[in-house]
Amino acid sequence: GQGDSQSQRQVDSVCPYCGVGCQLTYHINDDALAYVEGRNGPANQNRLCVKGRFGFDYVSHPARLTKPLIRLPGIPKALDPTFDPANPFSHFREANWDEALGIAAGGLMTIKQAQGPKALAGFGSAKCSNEEAWLFQKLVRTGFGSNNVDHCTRLCHASSVAALMECLGSGAVTASFMQALEADVVILTGCNPAVNHPVAATFFKQAAKQGTEIIILDPRGQALDAYASMSVRFTPGADVSLFNALLHVIIAEGLYDQAYIDAHTEGFGALKLSVAHSTPEAMSALCGVSPDTIREVARRYANAEKAMIFWGMGISQHTHGTDNARCLISLALACGHTGRPGTGLHPLRGQNNVQGASDAGLIPMVLPDYQPVGDSQLRAAFEALWNTPLSNEPGLTVVEVMNAIHAGEVRGMYILGENPAMSDPDLTHARAALGKLEHLVVQDLFVTETAQFADVILPASAWPEKEGTVTNTNRQVQLGRAALPLPGDAKPDWWIIQEIANRFGLNWRYQHPQDVFAEMQQGMHSFNHISWERLARESSVTYPCPAEDEPGQDVVFSDAFPRAGGLAKFAPARPLPPDEPVDHEYPTVLTTGRQLEHWHTGSMTRRAQVLDALEPEAVACLSAGELHRLGVSPGEKLTIITRRGAITLTARVDDKIPNGMVFVPFAYAEAAANLLTNPALDPYGKIPEFKYAACRLERAAVP
Ligand code: SF4
Repeated sequence: GQGDSQSQRQVDSVCPYCGVGCQLTYHINDDALAYVEGRNGPANQNRLCVKGRFGFDYVSHPARLTKPLIRLPGIPKALDPTFDPANPFSHFREANWDEALGIAAGGLMTIKQAQGPKALAGFGSAKCSNEEAWLFQKLVRTGFGSNNVDHCTRLCHASSVAALMECLGSGAVTASFMQALEADVVILTGCNPAVNHPVAATFFKQAAKQGTEIIILDPRGQALDAYASMSVRFTPGADVSLFNALLHVIIAEGLYDQAYIDAHTEGFGALKLSVAHSTPEAMSALCGVSPDTIREVARRYANAEKAMIFWGMGISQHTHGTDNARCLISLALACGHTGRPGTGLHPLRGQNNVQGASDAGLIPMVLPDYQPVGDSQLRAAFEALWNTPLSNEPGLTVVEVMNAIHAGEVRGMYILGENPAMSDPDLTHARAALGKLEHLVVQDLFVTETAQFADVILPASAWPEKEGTVTNTNRQVQLGRAALPLPGDAKPDWWIIQEIANRFGLNWRYQHPQDVFAEMQQGMHSFNHISWERLARESSVTYPCPAEDEPGQDVVFSDAFPRAGGLAKFAPARPLPPDEPVDHEYPTVLTTGRQLEHWHTGSMTRRAQVLDALEPEAVACLSAGELHRLGVSPGEKLTIITRRGAITLTARVDDKIPNGMVFVPFAYAEAAANLLTNPALDPYGKIPEFKYAACRLERAAVP
């Protein structure tokens, strides 16, 4: 864009934080970001939340990496509390690109030659673009030679995707969140949109004002309770009991849509049998919701003409996360609430590009567009596209990689823009694994906690410094444009991946992300009719898109599901207890998540001045009653202990938290919540149980 009176230059892009995908305009003076404004994107209609408005000065933070770094000899691979990321020279020395890339790729290559392809693994990033995700998984698959590639989808919606793939044949939402404005009833469960999808929350509020009935099902309260006609709190971890009771009522009272079930589904008989004994009376004792309330929720959802279900990590981050999502899918299928405007199933995706990174194949069991690696016909298409044989063996997931390092099976890693030393469960175990790696290459903006374990750190590009596409929770593919120069010797991520690939002998010659996008269009049907030129012109196109001159489908599966015979499948689920139930010794439920102001492990937002000023310190949130019982006043220090570790942090009263629970955000390195969390995995999605661990609370010894 051209200048106006308030700034010299404007550049249109997308917010780099959450999966809502708000479109924005950077205002730039003298190559520095002056301020950011929302613009009229399909997911935000000019709105931005506090992160999108104030979350950008991390790009010019003094600790920003501007040169490649190489680990000094003799420095132990462990977190050093005295280490200062703004002055890393106690542990690392600067290098030029040629030397750093040579050491980075050389170390990985040596391991591959000595130990075989499976001794290497890569974590890509849901914060990078589609093109970068594509190149990263291509490097691992064609250069490293295995499918050991994953990213943080494993920690957020892997279980939802597993259930959606199984039951519907597609891992993305069936309808955008804007469809809530058309719905009569909206269920929000295991999500807290006012905190985690703030601009989406504004549309839920608007829907409520227009008469949409909002029903919230969650162990915790939340800001949207004020807009809900029913807000039902249930026992943490008892999701399946509650959902099966809802299904039981819908079946027992004949509220299901037989015509829809006959035309579009299979397996309803098995579902009926499986919930036959899940009466509201029987399930009430497990889920803590009265039978009358269960009946009321079931009737309101089933009797609505149009209804939607939205869910978040409260559903997915359990050892029964896939079962939770299966139940929600069953509810929608039984009532015929998909495939029409105002109906649908919508897992609210977390990171700005977790949908796109997953679509692009940053997943160990599937190639791009969710093509199973074991299917020889589908694999052959990619072998032809990339002119290389590919492994047919599914690779390791995020937590499995850490276990494989401990077992001596994985010895070298390339980590792009992710921070497992903060984001993995049971950090003591995960950090010890990172410390055991023979060779670790980290590509990031800062010396993150993970980068402190690296042999080589490659200085990458921040979102406002590069071009690329991202895909939001609504399946809207959007174009991000470069607005700022790269600092120092930092480089675009696609360029760095290509340099590593070429040192693996791959001979890549991409000149621009646009070239990568063109290759993706050859391998991914989901990008049909979505050209780079179109995105440059229109900024956003929804997939699937039937023609060049159509905007793409907001609501999918009106006629058929992408499964054999076009039928969706009911997948019954049985209630299972949490992996680590509370007991006498550890009587309190620990649950973790995000805050409005801080993003994930805090590497960006804690370096954004306004955001850090709003939430400057690690807090543990619990009810006034619980604090009183512990003899701790708000603002005093509290220690939380689990079987895996202990952290001490400031106590905060939050009456949305039920008694018997403590909530801790995981953004704070000085009191890392994930030192406490349970690494037990959902067997299908391989997602850890971040939402439930047994803990004990104590008043901290005053320092
Ligand atoms: Fe950015 Fe999400 Fe906030 Fe929109 S709602 S401004 S995408 S963080």
